[in-house]
Amino acid sequence: MRETARNCSRWRLAALAGAAALVAALAGACGFEVAPAAPGAQGTRVATPAPASQESPPGKVDENEFQEDVRTAETITDDYWRRHWERLFTGSYSSPRVVGLYNGRDPGSTPTCDGEPLERDNAAYCPAGDFVAWDAHLMRSGYARGDAWVYLVIAHEWGHAVQNRLRRGLVSPAAELQADCLAGAVLYGSSDDGTLKFEDGDEQELVDAFQVIGDKAPWTKPGDHGSSVQRLRSFSRGGENGVRACFT
Ligand SMILES: [Zn+2]
Repeated sequence: MRETARNCSRWRLAALAGAAALVAALAGACGFEVAPAAPGAQGTRVATPAPASQESPPGKVDENEFQEDVRTAETITDDYWRRHWERLFTGSYSSPRVVGLYNGRDPGSTPTCDGEPLERDNAAYCPAGDFVAWDAHLMRSGYARGDAWVYLVIAHEWGHAVQNRLRRGLVSPAAELQADCLAGAVLYGSSDDGTLKFEDGDEQELVDAFQVIGDKAPWTKPGDHGSSVQRLRSFSRGGENGVRACFT
């Protein structure tokens, strides 16, 4: 994905078709085994390998591009909420603090949330400190499979910051699936707004990412993330229908 200053309205259609296609891509693959939430592990791939893109080949992380994508994803997501908040919710939007990348392997530098260090190989929104942060190893290993990973993780965690700004009744008991829905709304919404451009291979990367991060079991109780299929479906619902669809 990349930031774009151009306004390209044709992306509206492309994005809609894309979000629907994501669900279609998984519809025929409901029986696959999903890797547990271990993003470093090899997820089962769906269908064919990702089409060639103009980005770095999989497995190789260009550090400058990586850092730039992380910054872009943070900026794009924050901008999206700032731009759309007042049309969607009451009050005005305030950004969470962005702690950003951290080294979960170094206890001395790992940020703490309510007195507890953030988990290694995880990404988090910390309600106590109202900040978002991402383990650098988690982000780099996902990025090695494609840049869409960092956009998804960052937009998802930001979704939790948004939930924390809303009255309780608006937050779904399936809070993780709602955060996926909000991530879809932000990424496709930014594409509609012309601030983000999907490139060849991005959507396949998103499908692959959900296979890696989906739980083995479907959603049943708060705290569960849901299966890959459920997660992708929620993401696509937000992508196709926007933020409001995440609150129905
Ligand atoms: Zn989450």
